[in-house]
Amino acid sequence: MSLIEISRKNFVYNINQIVQKTQSHEKIALVLKDNAYGHGLTLMASLAVEVGIRHAVVRTVTEAMAIYEQFETVLVLSDTPKTYLGEKIHIAINDVRHLDAIPTGTSVELKVDTGMHRNGIMPAEFLPAIEAIEAKGLKLVGVMTHYRSADEMGSEFFWQRKVFEHIRNLAEREKIVDIRWHSCNSAALFRTQNFDEDIARVGIAAYGCLEMPKPFNTPHLKPVMSLWAERISTRTVSSSQRIGYGGEGSLSKGGMVSTYDIGYGDGWLRGSVQNPYRLPNGQKILGRVSMDAISLEGSDERVCLFDDARQTAKQFGTIPYDILVKLSPSIQRVVV
Ligand SMILES: *Cc1c(COP(=O)(O)O)cnc(C)c1O
Repeated sequence: MSLIEISRKNFVYNINQIVQKTQSHEKIALVLKDNAYGHGLTLMASLAVEVGIRHAVVRTVTEAMAIYEQFETVLVLSDTPKTYLGEKIHIAINDVRHLDAIPTGTSVELKVDTGMHRNGIMPAEFLPAIEAIEAKGLKLVGVMTHYRSADEMGSEFFWQRKVFEHIRNLAEREKIVDIRWHSCNSAALFRTQNFDEDIARVGIAAYGCLEMPKPFNTPHLKPVMSLWAERISTRTVSSSQRIGYGGEGSLSKGGMVSTYDIGYGDGWLRGSVQNPYRLPNGQKILGRVSMDAISLEGSDERVCLFDDARQTAKQFGTIPYDILVKLSPSIQRVVV
């Protein structure tokens, strides 16, 4: 069977690098949304708890319910609970109108739009939103924002941070205390000199696939995931025999060709025959990718599709997040 291997050693290594910035494991809120970036939600939650992480971030209430017992808090980025779920589960408020739908008593974190213009309330809505939260009997437990280009050279990061500071000063004047403040994703955390917020929402760095422009001098991180496929069958073909759908694959000198059990049905990208994907060992995928299979020269029992999603993303002209999250939850994940 195709298999996703999760390297405990590399995960621990990355977390240690992140702790250099946050100064403690308690300040890391591990982002586990979208099946933990494809790594496996419950598996990564357990690994996180093992290394001393106490806070998690997910997208949905369903994800939160699957893991909340192991954490002190679980922040839900984009969902609305039907009933009160207890104080551990925090709901991010992405729009003032969202407040009407949240059950009384729920812990909420207010997202402020400091410049990304995707989600969150506008700075001018901050105080009215705080009033609305109180009026609706909700419990404000955090204020957050998100940077639009922390991983790119440029000044946006700094001016968004200024807007967030302004909100924080406003809150202090209004005696809004005992809540947590957070703005950093992975890229922003590694750009921050003296991190002094309450938590950092770290995703891609923990999974070892953060990419930053060179001048930022970001520490080297180690990819946690590798993807493997197993041989289904082998045959010998001549140079004139063609392989797979459309007969687009061939071996110019003929030879042994094997089929492996991964395809676009597993979330592996179909790519193009003209520009075939190259495995870490140099082998090229022959012909078209099928729903559940690919063809490769040779007869190895087991092949590694990637051990660094950053390299795979480059070949497909996308970002590592895209490669990772697409991998089907039904592929078996094992910790090695
Ligand atoms: C996904 C997400 C993160 C994590 O971003 P990384 O780049 O993976 O560290 C943090 N905050 C919010 C609001 C997000 O949506």
